[in-house]
Formats: sequence, C-alpha cells, structure tokens
Amino acid sequence: MKFIETRGNDGDHPLKVSFSSAILAPIASFGGIYAPEILPDLGFKFLQRHIDSNYKVLSKSVLSAFEIDIEESVIDEALSLYDHFDDPSNPVPLVKVKDDLYVSELYHGVTRAFKDMALQPFGVVLSALAKKRNENYLIMAATSGDTGPAALETFKNREHVQVACLYPDGGTSDVQRLQMVTEEAKNLKVIGIHGDFDDAQSALKRLLASSAFKAKLKEKNIHLSAANSVNFGRIIFQLIYHIYSYLELVRQNAINLGDKVYLDVPSGNFGNALGGYYAMRMGLPVEKLLIASNDNNVLTQLIQTGKYDIRGKSVISTSSPAMDILKSSNVERILYDLFGAERTKELMFQLDNDHYYELNADELSRLQQVFTADFCNDDEAKQYIKDAFAKGYLMDPHTATCFKAYDTCREKSLKTIAYSTAEWTKFSPTIANALTGEQGTSDIDALQAIAKEANIAIPDMIKGLFDKEIAHNTIIDKQDIEKEILDFLVS
Ligand SMILES: *Cc1c(COP(=O)(O)O)cnc(C)c1O
Repeated sequence: MKFIETRGNDGDHPLKVSFSSAILAPIASFGGIYAPEILPDLGFKFLQRHIDSNYKVLSKSVLSAFEIDIEESVIDEALSLYDHFDDPSNPVPLVKVKDDLYVSELYHGVTRAFKDMALQPFGVVLSALAKKRNENYLIMAATSGDTGPAALETFKNREHVQVACLYPDGGTSDVQRLQMVTEEAKNLKVIGIHGDFDDAQSALKRLLASSAFKAKLKEKNIHLSAANSVNFGRIIFQLIYHIYSYLELVRQNAINLGDKVYLDVPSGNFGNALGGYYAMRMGLPVEKLLIASNDNNVLTQLIQTGKYDIRGKSVISTSSPAMDILKSSNVERILYDLFGAERTKELMFQLDNDHYYELNADELSRLQQVFTADFCNDDEAKQYIKDAFAKGYLMDPHTATCFKAYDTCREKSLKTIAYSTAEWTKFSPTIANALTGEQGTSDIDALQAIAKEANIAIPDMIKGLFDKEIAHNTIIDKQDIEKEILDFLVS
C-alpha cells in the first residue's frame, strides 16, 4: 500500500510513497504529513477469525492488511518486544471498573507509559530500514516526560541510529528525568535545557528546519529524522490495541461480536484517538470516540463547536502534562480523511497563519458523527482518582480525564473502553495528593505513600531508578544545543 499527502502535492515530492519512505521522511508537500491511500477493510470475518488470537498474531494480521514494505523477520522482531511487557500473553489487559466502563491498560511496557506501545516496535523497524539502506540517522526528540524515556529505551544500542533527547530541566517528574538520565548507551545523548518544554520543543523545531545544521550533519553522513507522533510508523502500531481491546470485551462476555462500543481516549497529539478512528473506518464496531482533554481544551472546543481557536492562548500546566498541548498534530489526518487534501491544506494554513479555523456546518456535523468530547480540570481529575481508588481501582491523572468523558459524553448505554495511558508510578505526587491530601511530596515519598495506601509494591524498574548511576549530566542554555549535539555525533 502507498501513502499520500494530507495537503496535496507540490510537484517536487513524489505523488505516493511507500511505508518505509513515509517513516524515514515524514514531512510531505506544503508541510503536510502522510496518510494511507486507502484503509484496508477488515470487516466482521476478520474479527471472527481473530477472536482467540494473541496480541502478536492479531498484530501481524493487521499489519499485513496494510501491505507495508517491511520484511517479515523485521516485523517479527519488532513484535517480539511485547514479550517484555508484564504479561507477554496479554500485554494490554482490559479491566472492568464499573457498570459499562472497562479500562484498557496501555502502560505495561518498559517505561510504564503508553508511548511504549508504538515506540518499542517502531524503534526496531526504523533501525532495520536505516541499516538496510546503509544510512545513519539522528533521531531528535523533545519531551515533557513520556516520549523521551520511551524513545531512548527503544533506540538504545540499535545500529545506524543515534538519539538526541531534549528535556526541560525541572520540567519533568523525578521518575521521568531519572528514566532518561540513567539510560546509558553510546548512541544516546540526553540534554537538559534551562527553560520549559516550549523552549525545548522550539529549539528542536529550529534545528529540524535549519539548513546549516543539516549541512553539518551531511558532512558526517547523517540524516535527520524525528520520532514524534505524526510518524505513521507509530500510528500503525496504535491501531492494533483498539481492535485487541474490543476482542477482549467479547472474550470477557461483556458484548457479542458486532455490538457497538465507545472508545474513550485521553488525547494530546491525537495519535491514540487516530488509531481508534482508523480501526473504526476499517470495520471495528464503534459507536463514537469520546475525546477527553484537560484544561487545554482545544479539542473539546473543536468537536463541540467546529472552531479550532488558539488565538492568544498559551499552554496551561496541568496534572496530566502529556495532554498539555495546543496544536494537536494528528487532527490533520482526520481532516484529510473526512474533507480531503484541498480543504485540509486550507484549514492548516489558516491555523498556522491566523491561529484559528472554523469548520462549516456540514463539516461539523460529519465530525460529530464520529467524535464527542469533554474536558476535565485538575480538581475533577483528583476527585475521579479518589473515587475510583475507593472502589478498588488505582489510576493516573491522564486516565482520570476519560472517567469524566464516560460520565458526560455517552448518549447510549453501550460498553465503553477507556484507555489508561500511564501507570500510577509516573505521576505519583498528584495521585498521593488525591488519596491522602498531602501536598508537595517528592516522587519517592509519593511512591511509598501510595504503595502503602494501596498495599502494592513499587515496580522494580521504578524503584531501581533512584539507585542507578546518572549517565547524563549535561544541562545547558538553549543556544548551546546545536554544538552539544554535533560534538556528540559519530559519523
Ligand atoms: C502521549 C500521552 C497521551 C496523549 O496521547 P496522544 O496520542 O498524543 O493523544 C496521554 N497520556 C499519556 C500518559 C501520554 O504519555
């Protein structure tokens, strides 16, 4: 299958590209991105056939429906990384929490957050492609917490790939920072920046766009790429767990095959939600997707009013930082799928230039046939964490936003799959505060307080972080980033 461009073609880029090209060079004409030319139709028979398939068998079948140009041995190796999840026979457990609400836990991988679901296999695929082409890649990432650890973990010691990861010093949790700075491998460079996440992200964008920087990389024979969530190589792995979780509902006798469900997604860059949307378009029986946000509620506004409005807005820091976002990149693929390339280009240009666009009435109604949305502020999230815990379910603040959407967005009493995107260990101070009222605790104290309160153990990979040797000490001003990276790179 080929991939085409969300903003149409500028005459310089090829009209269609293979999966591997879309992964290695993810930016298309007019600043657009790549989307599948047609979505495979899986249909009822596919679901029937896979009712008892394990995660890997299902994954292979979904991937082969896309006919991607990746060798089977590479796909097998990529999928074998799910063997390192807590329960290899069931890497994505589905837990009934109450009434119609089931939680699909996407955080049972190495870094305890859902980014592992896609970045783990993606790392294998990208490194294999680079090796096959005998090219060297620099992967750049700017992170406020979860992407950085997952990217470092997947690329460490992989051939033909080096990683430079920027994080705001003081802007992540202790656990997230330790996950990065203790990651020891020759091909990894972790750099703390004096500043906030926006500073790290804008520094990254400047370098990605700098022809001088690219020229210097070229001298070292290195290509530039990014592991951000617009890369279709990540999206394709995010389709699978939606299908798997649906089949899990059938296996748990909660629904019959063919019954419709809601998918309830805590959303930031919209990669997770896009995976659910594609699964629906490929035949998964989904009534609607519930899009949960925090106080950064641009997506709620878009879906409720048709207006994408970030004029004069800046990002608000919340207790669910992985959803603190104004420009949600993967919305573009939804616009493209619903309204076509011409209109997508127009809308995205308006967003870039005017920080605003508005869908017409017909477009809004088409969007609302698929999505409904609400947002959950920090106080509400805390209350949801507390209430769920009282009923025996421990969850993180991102997951909590879905619990509100479950309460406010459903029009029918259908079974609902809510996605849990981080383990309690990653956002422990917020959770400890919700459970005990104590404020301002450090991560390690909060971890211990929750472990005691919930009578559970802190997982070894989290506890061990506090004793691990620090491998990366670099903390610099943003104007020194380029030099720091160039000094690190090996050609
Ligand atoms: C990345 C992330 C999200 C947001 O997912 P998107 O695919 O960007 O919408 C939500 N929760 C956590 C914990 C995350 O790390």
